[in-house]
Amino acid sequence: MRILIISDIHANLEALQAVIDAAGEVDAAWCLGDVVGYGPSPNECVDLVQQLPNLICLMGNHDAAAIGIGETESFNPEARLSIEWQQEQLTEASQEFLQQTRERQQAGDYTLVHGSPRQPLFEYLLDTESAALSFQYFQGNFSLVGHTHIPVIFKQSPVMERVTLSIPDPESVTQLQPRSIINPGSVGQPRDRDPRAAYAILDDERDQWSFRRVEYPVDKVQEKMKAAGLPERHIIRLESGW
Ligand code: ZN
Repeated sequence: MRILIISDIHANLEALQAVIDAAGEVDAAWCLGDVVGYGPSPNECVDLVQQLPNLICLMGNHDAAAIGIGETESFNPEARLSIEWQQEQLTEASQEFLQQTRERQQAGDYTLVHGSPRQPLFEYLLDTESAALSFQYFQGNFSLVGHTHIPVIFKQSPVMERVTLSIPDPESVTQLQPRSIINPGSVGQPRDRDPRAAYAILDDERDQWSFRRVEYPVDKVQEKMKAAGLPERHIIRLESGW
């Protein structure tokens, strides 16, 4: 299957639409959570995600917080303000959709979570040390994660179980090696200093992975955020990707 892999859309409709248009025809879509949070279009993003073929959608920490089931104490004041705004906006239909997403899902040889296999909702896999611990928490060859908003592949070598980190170029095709933890980056709020929306295409029969980037009208999203009175920091960061 040709599978669209997306994560951390964060209510950024323009970025999500650009990704869907650029991805072309896919057989399935796996979304690794945080459909909402930060951005100005939570309901529109929930609606659009649901139109994707053979969708698997995981629960992210912002999704959980937006429907009132996650803790928000770890959120900084701006993030909390943003979450309260999301809570007010969400329609009943959007809430129902987010409520039925799961923290962990197995799809063939792939374990899907938002944060990490060790702590599906909250852990950030930013370095090889934290990734190394998570390899004990899934059985198959591959795990897909989001949450950090940074595209990366962590690979565990069969010898000594040493974990290495790599960031392949966008558009290049990577043959995934057992065992690996892979993050496609963020659709709606990239944090790797590249403001373009990030996603990936996976061929799950050949285990081939391709990181992709696509431009979208950042200024349009920023205008919507301003009009909604969302925090300045979350508006500015979109244009430089931090
Ligand atoms: Zn996120």
